[in-house]
Amino acid sequence: MNQMNFKPRLEPKRAVVIGAGFGGLALAIRLQAAGMQTTLLEQRDKPGGRAYVYEDQGFVFDAGPTVITDPSAIEELFTLCGKRMGDYVEMLPVTPFYRLCWEDGSHFDYANDQEALDRQIHARNPQDVAGYRRFLAYSKAVFDEGYLKLGAVPFLSFRDMIQAGPQLARLEAWKSVYGMVSRFVKDEQLRQAFSFHSLLVGGNPFATSSIYTLIHALERRWGVWFPRGGTGALVKGLVRLFEDMGGKLELNASVARIETAGNLASGVRLEDGRWFMADAVASNADVVHTYADLLKNHGRGSSHGEALKKKRFSNSLFVLYFGLDKHHEQLQHHTVCFGPRYRELIKDIFHGQQLADDFSLYLHAPCVTDPSLAPPGCGSHYVLAPVPHLGNAPIDWETEGPRYRDRIFDYLERRYMPGLRSQLVTSRIFTPHDFRDQLNAHLGSAFSLEPILTQSAWFRPHNRDAELPNLYLVGAGTHPGAGVPGVIGSAKATAGLMLEGVHAGVHS
Ligand SMILES: Cc1cc2nc3c(=O)[nH]c(=O)nc-3n(C[C@H](O)[C@H](O)[C@H](O)COP(=O)(O)OP(=O)(O)OC[C@H]3O[C@@H](n4cnc5c(N)ncnc54)[C@H](O)[C@@H]3O)c2cc1C
Repeated sequence: MNQMNFKPRLEPKRAVVIGAGFGGLALAIRLQAAGMQTTLLEQRDKPGGRAYVYEDQGFVFDAGPTVITDPSAIEELFTLCGKRMGDYVEMLPVTPFYRLCWEDGSHFDYANDQEALDRQIHARNPQDVAGYRRFLAYSKAVFDEGYLKLGAVPFLSFRDMIQAGPQLARLEAWKSVYGMVSRFVKDEQLRQAFSFHSLLVGGNPFATSSIYTLIHALERRWGVWFPRGGTGALVKGLVRLFEDMGGKLELNASVARIETAGNLASGVRLEDGRWFMADAVASNADVVHTYADLLKNHGRGSSHGEALKKKRFSNSLFVLYFGLDKHHEQLQHHTVCFGPRYRELIKDIFHGQQLADDFSLYLHAPCVTDPSLAPPGCGSHYVLAPVPHLGNAPIDWETEGPRYRDRIFDYLERRYMPGLRSQLVTSRIFTPHDFRDQLNAHLGSAFSLEPILTQSAWFRPHNRDAELPNLYLVGAGTHPGAGVPGVIGSAKATAGLMLEGVHAGVHS
């Protein structure tokens, strides 16, 4: 449905969106722009969800997403409101996209520069130059099919899935990301360089469908971006857009229950007793929390909540934010620090019952692109390590967290950031317990349901509930899945359904 053609009725319908992550924000903007009176309810004191912001002694730390891809999906939100993105947020290009480093001291700068890529690939294995080109062509074909055609289309019926079947078969979607990369590229480090991307959306490269190689083509197509002022500045820009359109954001508004009348959602009740009536309710909160907790007074909530708990959930993350009184000029904006093991470590992260002795890290150094995120001459950073979720490894993070922090600091100081400890001004950690307790994330998962083929598209929780026709989902737990482009795509799919629902009169 074309949103621009939607004509608001004389009595605008009221929508409530639970959760102000990127998915909730993007959905709220679309609904408000189409004439629904939209209230966005966020339990925390700031919007953004996983893209929360910490500020400490002049250091600004983006809590979560830092690799911003597909700016066109973000720009579309401004365009459909008749606004210019540039008036709300400035997007800065990041080059190289990432530096990938291994313990043997070698590195690979992954950038949108074919010649530089060919040179680096050739130095490792000349035959992989042609292999990489074939991989890129494959990744582009998946991108056209999986992202451009299906990324923002809701899969509500099994027929939709069957229709996508032939393309999925042609692209051999049953193969894993790593398996597909290995078909084209022989050098083991290059295999890692072109397969780690699915980890950015909670996917195990050895188990996740090769459909996720599309992230590679997506980055090559539109580049990697960083908002001036950090990802938090993008969140602020989206909030301002929503409010400029007349939407209402309520912070410190923790939803206790989605209320129902028969098989319709009638509104939401907050923990503090406040009540918001709604013609349609959408949840951007964790899907298990949505059904098992918020909808527990309706039979659908407990039955579907229990069914969802049986699904496979993505790994969690240990995140360490730290500010230094020195800017480390040797760093790139984004660095992936591969540890000594790849396949085995990933197995430990997705299936292990304890913390592995080694780790692979992602290191964020945003001051490389925007020095304003720290006091003059200083550096804001975060480093994250993928770790098992609490269902697999019920680690006591109160005890383990500080120990893990020290191990990571030692490793970074030894290999990447000499003198780190003596330069430390401030630090804080975010553990799987925090994902669970601060974000209501089931098992402390950082990315919701694991994006394996049998939990994707129609097999993922649907954008509209099957029994309550005016209850919707948006965000990482629904189609298409986690990652900023994914959840913004989910908002487009969900908004389309909600606005169709208004026309069809199901919201009454
Ligand atoms: C550390 C980290 C780094 C990442 N890096 C990247 C990256 O570089 N690039 C990328 O594309 N993706 C990245 N991701 C993934 C991406 O951030 C997420 O998939 C995406 O932001 C999730 O958005 P969402 O819309 O699903 O909502 P979330 O961000 O999960 O927000 C949900 C919101 O709902 C609120 N909520 C929950 N329960 C209630 C309730 N009962 N009442 C009211 N509100 C409630 C929560 O407080 C939260 O604000 C990263 C994720 C993490 C954790």
